[in-house]
Amino acid sequence: MKRVHVAATLLEAQLAADTLAAVGITTHILNAHAAGALGDLPFLHAQPELWVDDDAQTERARTVLATIRDAPASVEKPCPRCGKPNPGHFLSCWHCGGGLAD
Ligand SMILES: [Zn+2]
Repeated sequence: MKRVHVAATLLEAQLAADTLAAVGITTHILNAHAAGALGDLPFLHAQPELWVDDDAQTERARTVLATIRDAPASVEKPCPRCGKPNPGHFLSCWHCGGGLAD
């Protein structure tokens, strides 16, 4: 396993994990349950970390995450399956889970 992301919150880690899952990359979130220990642990040791299961997909995972970070969230695109508008950096529809990648 290789670490590809350190998230500020568990929600952010979960969103990144869901995004990678949508393109076929399986991950594990470490420290998912450490947030409740903030104050007892050094802060950096309590942040959720996203680890890619398959080392061979590490670079692809980093590319996908970089794409999400760099895409302007203000540009919306409609879901081809259900038609709901999605923020431009989403890779799968928040409503139906359909793929948004071109
Ligand atoms: Zn949809």
